[in-house]
Amino acid sequence: MTNRYDEKERRIHCAFSEKCGGCDYAGMKYDNELAVKQKYIEELFGEYVKVDDIVGMYRPIHYRNKVHAVVGLDDSRNVIAGTYEENSHRIVDTSDCMIEDSQCTDIIKDIKELIASFKYQPYDEDAGKGMIRHILLRKGFSTKEIMLVIVTAGVAFPSKNNFLKALCEKHPEITTIVQNINDRRTSMVLGKRNIVLKGKGYIEDVLCGCRFRISPTSFYQINHQQTEKLYKKAIQLADISKNDTVIDAYCGIGTIGIVASKKAGKVIGVELNSEAVSDAKINASINNIKNVTFVNADAGDFLVEYAKNAKADVVIMDPPRSGSTPEFINSLLKIKPDRIVYISCGPDTQARDIKVLVKGGYKVTACQPFDLFPHTEHVENVILLKR
Ligand code: SAH
Repeated sequence: MTNRYDEKERRIHCAFSEKCGGCDYAGMKYDNELAVKQKYIEELFGEYVKVDDIVGMYRPIHYRNKVHAVVGLDDSRNVIAGTYEENSHRIVDTSDCMIEDSQCTDIIKDIKELIASFKYQPYDEDAGKGMIRHILLRKGFSTKEIMLVIVTAGVAFPSKNNFLKALCEKHPEITTIVQNINDRRTSMVLGKRNIVLKGKGYIEDVLCGCRFRISPTSFYQINHQQTEKLYKKAIQLADISKNDTVIDAYCGIGTIGIVASKKAGKVIGVELNSEAVSDAKINASINNIKNVTFVNADAGDFLVEYAKNAKADVVIMDPPRSGSTPEFINSLLKIKPDRIVYISCGPDTQARDIKVLVKGGYKVTACQPFDLFPHTEHVENVILLKR
């Protein structure tokens, strides 16, 4: 073990953090880190409302249920796997990590050895040559199901059956294996085509009492324990009742909308990623939910159309880090929902969007930050706006 965790101060000491750059607050006491994050949110939103205390994790380690490693060669041409060094395309061979799920870290270590022993060439970005590009693992926190996605540059996978046999002997806990083909010269991890090599091709997890299917390209929150607290708060703030029409914008696999649907009249989810929308529709049926529909569209385009002749009582929005768009925000101001719950993993862009909503007649009535990403600089923030 190269890494250490100080239980009392909830401080991590990591041998890789300086190069990897993933954990900006490695070495800092966790309570101090929470104070830094609290202050950051207060600076952004303190002018509107009293910011509630950030909700931290009790044991803030090994929380990441999604682990990604880039595969490459070091200077001595040994196979390595890990993250890109900050602001570069050099790979840091992170053989141990304080925030990833440990079982996933172990699987990656063994895959790296198997790649070397099967003499598979890691993909070389500059030359555009080689076979193995990335390894992606996802684990269901409640179900313990594990999905391995091996991203290759082409379809060819020599000695595939022997490779899979060796891997599954070592790690029978991997419930499904998918080969993803990414033949483009891009920094995007996943390509368009998936070939299921073992199992179902997806995992399931249980979150807030509902069961969810998660496919390889679908978004799913990476910190299960904190997400349950986040969703609970967001839905409580939305104060949904049986007559309400709720829009779950940027809905991913439909998690928030499906959990909220039990209290609502009807829920409409909108999401850009078609694979996630397919998951969301299946998730509604797995949970026997009948009052939810999902639309595969850009959230802004959808809302522009929706605003022409329909109303909503509540809009829950959870856009990516870049925030929402003027089309979306302006349509919100036309629909005039009574309550807007804005969940964000990018409080800077959230502040930009909130400013427009406040100008448009909304009042910020609650602000609750959550630490979904301990030891990194990222903060998740929930804001309630009322008309
Ligand atoms: N609410 C979900 C997903 C949040 S992540 C959850 O908690 O799991 C943000 C989601 O927005 C992703 O699923 C992403 O695919 C989707 N997204 C990104 N840009 C979008 C757009 N322009 N329109 C609709 N959805 C978008």
